[in-house]
Amino acid sequence: MSLKKYKEKRNFSISPEPSGKSHSIVSHKRRLAYVIQKHRASQLHYDFRLEFKGVLLSWAVPKGPSLDPSVKRLAMQVEDHPLEYGKFEGTIPEGEYGGGTVMVWDKGDWIPESDDVSAALEKGDLKFTLEGKKLRGSWVLVRTRGFGSKPDKSWLLIKHRDKFASNEDIVATKPRSVLSKRLLADIASDNGGDVERAATGDPAKTPKSKAGMKRKVPAQNKKIRT
Ligand code: MN
Repeated sequence: MSLKKYKEKRNFSISPEPSGKSHSIVSHKRRLAYVIQKHRASQLHYDFRLEFKGVLLSWAVPKGPSLDPSVKRLAMQVEDHPLEYGKFEGTIPEGEYGGGTVMVWDKGDWIPESDDVSAALEKGDLKFTLEGKKLRGSWVLVRTRGFGSKPDKSWLLIKHRDKFASNEDIVATKPRSVLSKRLLADIASDNGGDVERAATGDPAKTPKSKAGMKRKVPAQNKKIRT
């Protein structure tokens, strides 16, 4: 667990992302921070992060989490991030590493379901409970083989069957920040980012989201977004 790679990839005199302080490794509490950041970079993805030993273990999930236990979502492990990164919502300048818009899509606690998290990570089978604002219940991250050029970095994020499992497409039904209720386009707009590009990660506009601005127009007169 180290922030070396994280720091190598970034120029903190340009990017507003946290530079990362050193934290004491001795943290044995069972409730640990959990966050998912929706990130409209070159590709839209969801950064799934779990606090462990003073850093945020991180996986990039291209399609985001699914509440359906029959759906396995690819999760590529990326470099550990500093704990304070979990509060970062804003715009990374274009041309910098991960340039684009970042939203805190979910946050809360995670509770390991095994006593030895290091051993579970080593084995490639980490079971845990999420107590987030959007995601809850039991989940597993399982290491897989055969995806692309970095097979040891490929994991699958899967919902276990419990009362929080459902067919709801939660990335579509709950697109807003849990910190600020903003959409990606709002965050980009507030931070001088590329609003048009950020908006491609938001749900297509509906009359409801424009409520109060315009009266509803008949469906056949609506502009088709291409
Ligand atoms: Mn990312």
